[in-house]
Amino acid sequence: MGKIRVGFGYDVHQLKEGYDFWLGGIQIPFEKGAVGHSDADVLIHVICDALLGAANMRDIGFHFSDTDPQYKGIDSKILLKDVMLLLREKGYQVGNIDSTICLQLPKINPHIPEMKKCLAEVMGIDEEDISIKATTTEKLGFVGRQEGVSAYCAVLIEKK
Ligand SMILES: [Zn+2]
Repeated sequence: MGKIRVGFGYDVHQLKEGYDFWLGGIQIPFEKGAVGHSDADVLIHVICDALLGAANMRDIGFHFSDTDPQYKGIDSKILLKDVMLLLREKGYQVGNIDSTICLQLPKINPHIPEMKKCLAEVMGIDEEDISIKATTTEKLGFVGRQEGVSAYCAVLIEKK
């Protein structure tokens, strides 16, 4: 077995009316959407951060500055593709991804298969190696008040 490394990611975005809600690379039908410099896809952002962390390559804001106009409104799938390139340049491949989305509403479970399919395609890995879980926070805190969405992600990468 090659050298294996673990990575971790955490991110938060505000939820507001009048914004599209992008999550796991797909658009979720909902009255609110996530606010951010990019398309504010919190799941993709934590995956990027976990991958970069595992490879000791700083974080998503370091590579794609949130003050740089070229990233304004950008599809986060493009950022994820770039992160995968950076990893592969360093000789790493992805072992598996385990993530959790924290959101009060809407129910995310019905959308998870489509997110997995989308992310597997973008990353060029097997759907079987991507786990996406969802939880509410029992109406507690900013997630519970539907003011925001957060996510966590752990990844394992391997150098052949
Ligand atoms: Zn983010």
